[in-house]
Amino acid sequence: MTQTSYTVQARDGQARLGVIRTPRGEIRTPAFMPVGTAATVKGMMPENVRETGADILLGNTYHLMLRPGAERIARLGGLHRFMNWERPILTDSGGFQVMSLADLRKLTEEGVTFRSHVDGSKHMLSPERSMEIQKLLGSDIVMAFDECPALPADRARIAESMALSMRWAARSREAFGDRPGHMLFGIMQGGLERDLREESAKALVSIGFDGYAVGGLAVGEGQEAMFTCLDYAPGFLPEDKPRYLMGVGKPQDIVGAVARGIDMMDCVLPSRSGRTGQAWTRRGQVNLKNARHADDPRPLDEACSCPCCRSYSRAYLHHVYRTGEMIAGMLLTWHNLHYYQELMQGMRGAIAEGGFADWEAGFQQVFEAGDIAPL
Ligand SMILES: [Zn+2]
Repeated sequence: MTQTSYTVQARDGQARLGVIRTPRGEIRTPAFMPVGTAATVKGMMPENVRETGADILLGNTYHLMLRPGAERIARLGGLHRFMNWERPILTDSGGFQVMSLADLRKLTEEGVTFRSHVDGSKHMLSPERSMEIQKLLGSDIVMAFDECPALPADRARIAESMALSMRWAARSREAFGDRPGHMLFGIMQGGLERDLREESAKALVSIGFDGYAVGGLAVGEGQEAMFTCLDYAPGFLPEDKPRYLMGVGKPQDIVGAVARGIDMMDCVLPSRSGRTGQAWTRRGQVNLKNARHADDPRPLDEACSCPCCRSYSRAYLHHVYRTGEMIAGMLLTWHNLHYYQELMQGMRGAIAEGGFADWEAGFQQVFEAGDIAPL
């Protein structure tokens, strides 16, 4: 009895409709996971994140181990209770963020030693320590500890890094042990090299995981290269396990990934954009900083049912952003997360009905036509 499962409910082309079941609730896939970096989705109350339709949040091991510390969160009852989110949480392994944020990193076979970007204190992450931290946090979906080179990188570097990540994947599996109710995902690496991706997938499948991530994308390669990789990489992974594309992305990236067989995604974009005056709508990106909105009484999107669009004008959003009011980031984050979840719901409905290709064409047409004309 593992108490977790994944079921594919419908297929349409490569796109899949499914559900991941955990003791903390079901995750409808394709799923978008808002990012709660430091035990909060910035600017949002957890119950409001849930209202947008999110079934699961992502937490960051690197940030939480530094502040407030994994042991402290465990003493306080675990991450769910600490941040008041009782539904599933996926935590990353910390590997990617150590490489992108920490100072004075030293990479060895054992793991990575580094200094905190916050206060310079010295820390270590290894497969074993990453599994321990994610257990202390109480994560429902735990990610294997891996290393991810920035692209472009030469083939030798990508091959060497992938081989290390596969050895770390085996150590992660061993350290994770048997934890009913919790899932462990392996992470495929291999950059944009098809044969390395296949080799990585085979190594992971032979170790055996509850789900598989396509790692090492959305690291500077561009959408075309990412889609080329996604044209084949998901096909190397088992049909009966969820597939997670890490750190993606813009709405067009998300739709393209689902079309290629991806089931789960996460990205800071909707919340980060919200704090910088940027909205994502079915008509593309809208910059509320722009003076064209100063006298515009219309909502951001008249068809959106989020609190931001129901009750506030573009003129108001422009004003509160320009004056630095906190509510600007709160309203735009709420709208953006709502839009992202509606996007996922739209795709799930289309896959269920076998109409994904038409849905995708309609999405692209409206998205690319852009925002409504100024008044
Ligand atoms: Zn809205």
